[in-house]
Amino acid sequence: MSCGGVALPKQGLLESQIARSGKLSGLLGKKAMPIRQELLDILVCPECKTPVKLTPGGDGLKCSTCRRVYPIKDDIPVMLLEEAKIAPE
Ligand SMILES: [Zn+2]
Repeated sequence: MSCGGVALPKQGLLESQIARSGKLSGLLGKKAMPIRQELLDILVCPECKTPVKLTPGGDGLKCSTCRRVYPIKDDIPVMLLEEAKIAPE
C-alpha cells in the first residue's frame, strides 16, 4: 500500500523531465528554419530592386543582378548596402 504511494510522485517527476526535453528539441527545430519563405518573397536588393535569394549556406541573401550578399544577423536579414559583400561570382 505505502509502496504505491511512493511510486506516484516518482512517475510525475519523470513526466516533467520528458516534457522539458520535448520543449528543448522544439526550440532546436525552430532554429533550423531561420528565414521564412514569405519574408524572402518580399525582400529586394536596395541597390537594383532585384528579389534576393538565400545563399546555399543559409547565412546570407544574394542579389543575382549586382551579386551583393546581404548578411543575416540573429535570423534578421540586413538589407543595407554598407553591410553587403559583393560575391566574386
Ligand atoms: Zn542588387
